[in-house]
Amino acid sequence: MSWKRVSLCILVELALLAGHGGVLRAQINQGPPSFGIPFPPPLVGDTSALAREAQDWLVELVKINTTNPPGNEQAVAKYLAGILTKEGITPEILDVAPGRSALVARLRSSAVAEPSKAFLLVAHMDVVGVDRSKWSVDPFGGIIKDGYLYGRGSIDDKGMLAANLAAFLALKRSNVRLNRDVIFLATTDEEQFGDASMKTLIAKYWDKFAAGYAINEGGNAVVKDGKVQHVAVQVDEKVPVNVAVIAKGTAGHASIPTKDNAVVHLAAAVAKIGDYTAPVHFTSITRRYFEGLSTLEDEETGKWIRVVDTPDRGEHAQRVLSDANPLWNSMMRDSIAPTMLQAGVRVNVIPSEAQANLNIRLLPGDTVSALLDELTKLVNDPLVHFEVEPDAGLAAPNSSIETDLYATITKVCAREFGGAPVLPFMSTGATDSAQLRLHSVQAYGLRPFPLTEEDDRRVHGDDERLPLAAFAKGVDLLTHIVAEFCVTK
Ligand SMILES: [Zn+2]
Repeated sequence: MSWKRVSLCILVELALLAGHGGVLRAQINQGPPSFGIPFPPPLVGDTSALAREAQDWLVELVKINTTNPPGNEQAVAKYLAGILTKEGITPEILDVAPGRSALVARLRSSAVAEPSKAFLLVAHMDVVGVDRSKWSVDPFGGIIKDGYLYGRGSIDDKGMLAANLAAFLALKRSNVRLNRDVIFLATTDEEQFGDASMKTLIAKYWDKFAAGYAINEGGNAVVKDGKVQHVAVQVDEKVPVNVAVIAKGTAGHASIPTKDNAVVHLAAAVAKIGDYTAPVHFTSITRRYFEGLSTLEDEETGKWIRVVDTPDRGEHAQRVLSDANPLWNSMMRDSIAPTMLQAGVRVNVIPSEAQANLNIRLLPGDTVSALLDELTKLVNDPLVHFEVEPDAGLAAPNSSIETDLYATITKVCAREFGGAPVLPFMSTGATDSAQLRLHSVQAYGLRPFPLTEEDDRRVHGDDERLPLAAFAKGVDLLTHIVAEFCVTK
């Protein structure tokens, strides 16, 4: 590197230091080691004060009950608008339905304005319901105990919402030059994917947040034996489809049982479906995921993962791995979970109809009609038929693992998490990213908070809680990623 370049960099630094200060530090990187500057020095300084501030926002966010339905996300949107306005940013409230509003805010790049380059930080404001009797604390109390913030949404997804806001404000406060527009988006109705969901937001307001890149929920920083084993970055997801299984028979007096009892026929069909295992099929993403995992798991598991897609030992390996881990089982095949049963109006009346709901998750590329052909053959009962519900998700192309953003996430995760690798991940659950991918956004699912399996299991469950140290780490990670990707170098 030439002297000219070094002095230019120092000038940049001085110009920046004369500005607002804040978390981001100017870059005097690329300096040779003889300058005594670490190579390369971090782009972002100490984020601990920022994380403490973001923790206070998160506590307030948890206290605003946005159980969906009804959602009531407008209250959160207003709270966020207050913070942004104080920072000199003018947010826009996007009304979607009564009491339900999204929020968008933008930091403009003076250099590049194309939407295809813009970067979107997205998180949803709604949460799933709670069974209060099973919680040890008030789920909407914002209670901090033993180093954890307890509360519905502390992980899913208000933690990410607060961390996104922190990273966004860090950019604003530092007054740095952006190489692209950076957009903060807080969404509605993610948990129900109903009328106020991302689909509606895109239909009504796409021009307000059109972007080429996004970071959303959907990934996981997996902690094993006290350290981050790997970071799963979601680049694809299974497609949810609900199917009704309906049995029809003759109604009658329960004292005179008949052979065509709808309850009996439905129960037999559901039992067969419960035993069914769809064939294994690897997508390019799951193949990469398992390849990466094979060197990280214990020796025995790694041995099976390495042969999982081979003709001779593959089938046995698939069985071993499916039994060992229900997530892997679902990643390898279409899955079917019966979730609801309905039949009968009186204890002494044989009903004419009985119905079950199957929650199906298809691998991208698979079709529900092919799966239902199989199930029809399996059930083999003229009294039973299937009806596909109209709320099916849409298959989207996966995000590329060749983009600069994916490379940045990989680099920063390795640096921040002691060399932990990033593995591309297809989530079994659905997120708003599918909608974004259908609009040509390279969307990546990241959960920046390193969590143990024990804490991960509480998401959507009882006593959901976020370790505060993990939250601070997540704020730090996300701020670094955003700075590396969006600040002009
Ligand atoms: Zn979520």
